[in-house]
Amino acid sequence: MRLVPCGGYVQMPDAATYFKPVLDKGWIKLEEWMGGDAAVIRGARICYQSEAHSADADERLIHRLMRSEPKHNTVFEHAVLRFHVKCPIFVARQWMRHRICSYNEQSLRYCLADREYYIPQGDVQLRESYVSHMEASFDLYEQLVAAGWKREQARGVLGTAIYTQFIWTVNAWSFMNWLYKRLDPGAQWEHRQYAEAALAIFGEVMPITAAAFTQSVLKQ
Ligand SMILES: Cc1cc2nc3c(=O)[nH]c(=O)nc-3n(C[C@H](O)[C@H](O)[C@H](O)COP(=O)(O)OP(=O)(O)OC[C@H]3O[C@@H](n4cnc5c(N)ncnc54)[C@H](O)[C@@H]3O)c2cc1C
Repeated sequence: MRLVPCGGYVQMPDAATYFKPVLDKGWIKLEEWMGGDAAVIRGARICYQSEAHSADADERLIHRLMRSEPKHNTVFEHAVLRFHVKCPIFVARQWMRHRICSYNEQSLRYCLADREYYIPQGDVQLRESYVSHMEASFDLYEQLVAAGWKREQARGVLGTAIYTQFIWTVNAWSFMNWLYKRLDPGAQWEHRQYAEAALAIFGEVMPITAAAFTQSVLKQ
């Protein structure tokens, strides 16, 4: 596998490869990335003042770094990814427990909530009750706003299945920590769908690191 050369930030083309629909109305999109596998290599090679002497030396080095114990983790922190995510609030709530990164989220103090919410699969009759409940909550929300309530107070009647959007800037090490935890079968299914989609995008922009992570950490 060849290193993808990358200097500075790369604005992603609006290609399907970097945009993955997730759940019924959500998605994850890679907006920008910096460094890639080449940044990991630069971080590692400065430690050893070494250079690659064969075609696959850099690839082998990344695999070795990923396997090493204790981990030489900081070399992976030089690569950065910036995602735009649309997901239910209950997924965002879990996501934002991950602190080593930066977020900015749509504010329902300033923006009016769209009448959009996640509908899980399951028993048809109960799903109808779920939808009626969500619709009624939006009816009340809109009524309160129309009556002059502040948006920041009216939003209190909406459930955590409504969709939100945020920007997530994260280095590759912290990103892999999120993947490891949110791809686990014990993680909530809906959150796992975002992690699966993000892993596929990771494989496109950092193919060597993603392959090493999949083999050595996910053991796949
Ligand atoms: C399946 C699952 C179930 C969960 N259930 C719950 C739950 O019921 N309740 C709940 O509250 N949370 C729950 N969590 C959230 C979990 O406890 C973590 O908060 C979340 O996964 C973020 O992980 P993190 O701290 O490794 O990530 P980050 O916050 O990104 O931190 C990355 C790493 O930095 C280091 N670090 C960051 N901050 C500190 C610090 N203050 N002190 C020391 N080291 C630090 C740690 O090594 C950490 O692993 C759950 C997570 C998962 C995956």
